[in-house]
Amino acid sequence: MTRSVFVINAGSSSLKYQLVDVDSGASLASGLIERIGETTGEARHEAPGIERVTERRVITDHEHAFGWVLQQLDRHGPDLDDANLIGIGHRVVQGGARFDRAVAIDDDVAQQIGDLAPLAPLHNPANLQGIRSARATFPGHPHVAVFDTAFHLTIPPAAHRYAIDASVAAEHRIRKYGFHGTSHQYVSRRMAELLGRPLEEVNTIVLHLGNGASATAVRGGRSVETSMGMTPLAGLVMGTRSGDIDPGVIFHLHREAGMSIDAIDTLLNKRSGLLGLTGTGDMRDVRQAADAGIPRAVEALEIVAHRLRGTVGAYLAHLGRTDAIAFTAGIGENSAPMRADALAGLEGLGIVLDPERNAGSGERRISADGSAIEVWVVPTNEELEIARQVAELVDSSGAE
Ligand code: AMP
Repeated sequence: MTRSVFVINAGSSSLKYQLVDVDSGASLASGLIERIGETTGEARHEAPGIERVTERRVITDHEHAFGWVLQQLDRHGPDLDDANLIGIGHRVVQGGARFDRAVAIDDDVAQQIGDLAPLAPLHNPANLQGIRSARATFPGHPHVAVFDTAFHLTIPPAAHRYAIDASVAAEHRIRKYGFHGTSHQYVSRRMAELLGRPLEEVNTIVLHLGNGASATAVRGGRSVETSMGMTPLAGLVMGTRSGDIDPGVIFHLHREAGMSIDAIDTLLNKRSGLLGLTGTGDMRDVRQAADAGIPRAVEALEIVAHRLRGTVGAYLAHLGRTDAIAFTAGIGENSAPMRADALAGLEGLGIVLDPERNAGSGERRISADGSAIEVWVVPTNEELEIARQVAELVDSSGAE
């Protein structure tokens, strides 16, 4: 019998959802509602066998958005009882040092998610809003929070602590948390399956390269190092985020250029990365410009690849023995040239790509037969990972 989980990703003015068949992994329905609370809302719903529904309309708040979703399910199916809905999974960005796994949401957990807002001011309050509205909409089902940070709580102190005044760090909960945890967990599990070996024995470097990008070193199914930090600004070069910079740059911009802290925050989070370097944050456009010989696009790609290569090198050292490197997310799954650039020159470290396999598509090995470390493309599926974690929790606790 089908068992399904309703997976929710709530932003401050958006709601993304997918009804997932936990056992087959199939999407039974999905959609996105944007510009909630504004005068120009847009709602989209799709399900297998129906024409995509798109409506431009005012959606006043998240509860209203859920009402719209229920209406679509009523009209177009599937019926939630027929789909045997066993729970609701909420993506929550920041779980702090407290949540090392998915957890059933009660009032106390909801409060703790709210208490973590200072560490993720843009995300946790929005996630909580989604949780409150969903609990009102689906009162009879278990609600489960799945944290972006949870997978990384196994990172040892030597890797997650920053070398700053220990009492300041403790008071303000400053440490590396890491993000994209559900994706890194899904891909590293899948990687072990693809290698046909027990998860506990497999060491993988996962490169999640999307608009946001992060790398994780996974030893035997446990995250031991990751490139994002206390916030998702650290690490690799991203679509609009700078990734790692010398923190001294911030003081310099404040003191010498007279920029406010908010302006620097916007600069580093929203106007840097590919966008800052080239004028577009979309990798496809940057690649096209580079192919046309535009120097700043060529240089931007070199900067992205340089940072990736350095990160891979560091993680090879942290893992000691690496079985596989897995590329995932929009760029990781689709950009053969970026994969090739990132690993160029690493043949001496046992990493050899096969250009033909690299140019293909779908889940596959892209390393050459003789490569000591296998390289794969593994499409991520965060919704399925969340759905599975909800199902595991519901099965084990009988959460109601
Ligand atoms: P995501 O955040 O995972 O949706 O990834 C978004 C990023 O993937 C954007 O920078 C896209 O330009 C990039 N992307 C998607 N498809 C391709 C492609 N075929 N080639 C290069 N980059 C791509």
